[in-house]
Amino acid sequence: MQKTCAQCLASFEITEDDLAFYDKASPVLQGKTHTVPPPKLCPACRAQRRQSHFNYEFLYRRNSDKTGKSIVSSLSAEKPYTVYEQSEWWKDDWDPMEYGREFAENTSILNQIAGLQQDVPTMSLVTDCNENSEYVQYSGWDKNCYLCFCTDYSEDCMYTHSIYYSKNTLDCFMGNTLELCYECVYCNECYRVFHAQNCHNCSECRFVLDCQNCTDCFGCVGLRNKQYCMFNEQLEKQEYRKRLKEYKTAHHSVRTTMESALGTLKDTHACKATIGLHNEDCTGDYLFHCKDCTECYDCSELRDSKYCNSMRGGNDCYDISHWGHPAELCLECGGVGEGANKLLFCNCCWPNCSDLLYCSFCISCRNCFGCVGLRNKQYCIGNKQYDKETYDALASTIITAMVQQGEWGEYFPVTASPYAYNESVAQKYYPLSKEEILKRGWSWKEPEDNIPDVTKTIAGSMVPDALEDIPDDILNWAVVCEVTRRPFKILKQELQFYRDMQLPVPRIHPDERVRIRMMKRNPRKLFERTCDTCDRELQSTYAPGRPETVFCEECYLAEVY
Ligand SMILES: [Zn+2]
Ligand SMILES: [Zn+2]
Repeated sequence: MQKTCAQCLASFEITEDDLAFYDKASPVLQGKTHTVPPPKLCPACRAQRRQSHFNYEFLYRRNSDKTGKSIVSSLSAEKPYTVYEQSEWWKDDWDPMEYGREFAENTSILNQIAGLQQDVPTMSLVTDCNENSEYVQYSGWDKNCYLCFCTDYSEDCMYTHSIYYSKNTLDCFMGNTLELCYECVYCNECYRVFHAQNCHNCSECRFVLDCQNCTDCFGCVGLRNKQYCMFNEQLEKQEYRKRLKEYKTAHHSVRTTMESALGTLKDTHACKATIGLHNEDCTGDYLFHCKDCTECYDCSELRDSKYCNSMRGGNDCYDISHWGHPAELCLECGGVGEGANKLLFCNCCWPNCSDLLYCSFCISCRNCFGCVGLRNKQYCIGNKQYDKETYDALASTIITAMVQQGEWGEYFPVTASPYAYNESVAQKYYPLSKEEILKRGWSWKEPEDNIPDVTKTIAGSMVPDALEDIPDDILNWAVVCEVTRRPFKILKQELQFYRDMQLPVPRIHPDERVRIRMMKRNPRKLFERTCDTCDRELQSTYAPGRPETVFCEECYLAEVY
């Protein structure tokens, strides 16, 4: 069946398999299946809507609505939500059931649930089991981390996104098991690797792209099992050391030159149509050990799923953003995992949740509908307790009302998000200008910069070129970002890292650095094109008009080995 997206008017397909999935995921109440209808929006518009409800980047100071204490929160002070500090939220001295309400059937059910989301205390940050890591979000099991997002099991890291099991690593995006790494995008198992992209199991490398099992390489692309290479030229150890010394890597100007040299090398290098390893019958990008997945991105160990992103472990899921580990038979959710089973249109529910509809921040709950912030509950609707029979009857009535309102089977709208569109993850993958955002009736938030308490403000371009000329006093200055003009500070442990690793001090605001790193990956969109060698038809995240040479898997492997 072909459908037209109600938002972007693109045509999209609903297959027989899709219909079978929607049927399988549909709730059964009083012996009746309340079939989830095919969605009104295309997959991309659904991902955009879902991700507008998550803020992976901006943290603010506000007061806890419980204690009045100044806390760090993903919700800025003016947001009309009740925010408790994470540790306070988990205590038993408040009861989310006190906010319970009955939903009126003659008005938007989604709006009423969104109202409940505003009233029930929410967590300042979605974090768990961290130590000395006040400024992290959607992160757990971290120690001494600062401004890390979706970063788990890591230590002494700063400014990272989607990083796991890493140590002493700064400014990296997407990766596992990094140590002493800097400015890496999608690198795994690397040690002392700086300015790298798509590299695996490398050490002591700088300015490298698509290298595997390499050590001591500089300015190289597409190498396998190499040592002492410079600009893809094999050198003797002595010669490599001698030439490397000539590059003053602790100088900002050298960094700039090398970044543009790497850009030129990149254009001459054959790219694989999509990135992935050990997959079977999958489409998408950045997939690992996945089977029968369609249009999924940044996933591992996923099976029989469609339109998912950033999942580790799961099967039979559609439209899930984060995180699995595992999730089964879930539809259109964000932040669900650790045993999520049959969750539909939910946000941030874990662990061991099952049969939830339109719930958020529910912990270990089953059979609940439109609930917020519950723990260990069953048969609740709108944070009110019912017995099984009443639950089934009432849930059926509400679904019928939602069907009439055209809301059943649709996720919460962008307008119900606690975040402004440009604060949300959606802006990262579906960027819009302020005008476009406002035109759609969505909200925009001007970036907030607390003018740092400093003795001196210095333009980025005036920061000394050589690391050795940077005085300790820079810790008392504000640097004005060369790109955005936003002021930022260099922290003590950060400066120490640059000195230990012989790296220049950045001149760009951390938020802008995140944006630049994210731009280095391809969009989460597949294009039909052909292999530049064998003309085979393939799907790639490289759009047909782009300058890169794009190879199918076979031609690519023939090229690099
Ligand atoms: Zn659309
Ligand atoms: Zn080919």
